[in-house]
Amino acid sequence: MADARSMGARAFETSRAPDKPHVSPMCPICGGRRFIASDAGRLAKGGVPPKCEACSGLERHRIVRAMFDCLPDGFLRGKSALQFSRDPGVPMERLGDVDVSVYGGDNSLDICRLDRPADSYDWVIANHVIEHVGDDSAALREMLRVAKPTGFVQVTVPSPSSQLWTEDWGRADPAAYGHYRGYGSDLPFVLANALEGAHGLQAIGWDTVIPTRWEPVYFFSPTRDAITALGMALKAGGFPVLAASR
Ligand SMILES: [Zn+2]
Repeated sequence: MADARSMGARAFETSRAPDKPHVSPMCPICGGRRFIASDAGRLAKGGVPPKCEACSGLERHRIVRAMFDCLPDGFLRGKSALQFSRDPGVPMERLGDVDVSVYGGDNSLDICRLDRPADSYDWVIANHVIEHVGDDSAALREMLRVAKPTGFVQVTVPSPSSQLWTEDWGRADPAAYGHYRGYGSDLPFVLANALEGAHGLQAIGWDTVIPTRWEPVYFFSPTRDAITALGMALKAGGFPVLAASR
């Protein structure tokens, strides 16, 4: 049967990653080639300076940008987005209207109770946001509510690759940048109760500047076919793609 799902499954089997897909000493955000220490003089493993001197992009921004960069125009061109915090990883120039919410600043929205109608955005983007939220499941439910039925919620958190299991501290820990928890790679299980029939994937991205640094990027959508199509595009772009939902 040649329905969309079986065609999707075949594409997964036959798509082929390009040779050396993501290793380049160039910032994918601005093309910069000079890198400096990050805040408090932080260097990456091996003493490599991680911060792009020109755009201030870090490993996490470049990982997300490289993933967006591989997506065909159909996923991005002219699409509406709600973005939490300013984020150099997001390709603003390829999107349509972007509604930017800065916590405590411009257009500050409560992510657990979004003052927006349902089905409003093609993309809802929250990179390094939900670790600051007491009820992360409520945040994901709200982001999925305001996403269109075929839209996407894109989420990253700090270094879920560094541990298997999420540690929830039950409070914003001032000694941990005000985070409520340190996520592990079990994040899709931790947030599974927020999906309520939505679907998700995780794609593994490498930093272009520090190629030993990798992180999962999470994508969710109300519609399974939308996530399947996105997964095919990311796979074709050379990224390992894993399910993050049933
Ligand atoms: Zn840059």
